[in-house]
Amino acid sequence: MGTTLEIEASKGWLSEDKNPFIISGPCSAESRDQLLQTGRELAKIPQLKMIRAGIWKPRTRPDIFEGMGEPALEWLRELKYETGLPTCVEVATPEHIELALKYEVDVLWLGARTTVNPFSVQTLADALRGIDIPIMIKNPLHPDLKLWIGALERINNAGITKLAAIHRGFYTYDNKPYRNLPMWEVPIELKRIIPEMPLICDPSHICGNRQLLQGVAQRALDLSFDGLMIESHYNPKQALTDAQQQLTPSSLKELINKLVIRYEFGTIEFENILEKLRFEVDKIDHDLLTILSQREQKTIQIGKYKKANNITVLQIERLRKMMLERLNYGKELELDSQFVSKLLQLIHKESIRLQTNIMQDN
Ligand code: PEP
Ligand code: MN
Repeated sequence: MGTTLEIEASKGWLSEDKNPFIISGPCSAESRDQLLQTGRELAKIPQLKMIRAGIWKPRTRPDIFEGMGEPALEWLRELKYETGLPTCVEVATPEHIELALKYEVDVLWLGARTTVNPFSVQTLADALRGIDIPIMIKNPLHPDLKLWIGALERINNAGITKLAAIHRGFYTYDNKPYRNLPMWEVPIELKRIIPEMPLICDPSHICGNRQLLQGVAQRALDLSFDGLMIESHYNPKQALTDAQQQLTPSSLKELINKLVIRYEFGTIEFENILEKLRFEVDKIDHDLLTILSQREQKTIQIGKYKKANNITVLQIERLRKMMLERLNYGKELELDSQFVSKLLQLIHKESIRLQTNIMQDN
């Protein structure tokens, strides 16, 4: 997707101020006591804007705790009236939507296991038609940006404009040290394609453990995310779901207070200096592309020479030596070796493509 996409979304429903929109609450509502105790503590955190709770839990295997269902909505409504805070829950079926509305839930979200399935998303979109309620959509389990955007489009086509995307990381075979790899480039690309879409990060499901939360939450804010959804429980060790990643409300408060809030725009002096630095970077990028084009011309010259002399495109020993020499030079320049290696591979792949084309030309 090269250009921006027409999705009617507005940031206004989240909040007008520049501070991140913070959502917290238990992974699952387990009992009236657990939900109310947790929620009352959360309500004392000034930056907290909304309470979450899992009512129906998508579990990997049957016969384990699958959420408390309808009774938990009653407790959530009680908490909403007591604290004055809006609430949000995950919905996966039209019945969930109906019940959530009956108990005055303010915002709904689609979980990662729902976004992954266009049939489910469309069923929910149809059930939402004509209802004015904000919907947040988590990314699908795997890093498929089109599927994520497709879900936003389906819900938007049902007339919902109060939307948000929630980044909760992506499942791959090697996620270490995370539960779900953040792959920040995916939400950044979403923001590029739909600049108006509010973006919320869910560090809890990215990290899978408490230790990593602070860093991921900060990273999200540094990347201009609009909000954070972080799971909390008054006694995380006893939690029936996601015990490793939930924070006590007091640890959540500590995490929030340690966050450094940066702004996308600064003073006039700051903007002037930034503009000058960007101008310099723009020029360097142009120089880089000019040099790459000169390199390509040389590659083509070499390819033609090889062809005229019946020599193969690839000389593996030359490639090995060249990579080694460039990597060492990169190190001298204090460039990250993984970055240099990836860049060289890309450049080399293009050279091979050009030279192979020459060999095949008549
Ligand atoms: C959750 O928020 O508790 C949840 C199940 O998340 P996800 O859909 O991101 O796995
Ligand atoms: Mn959870």
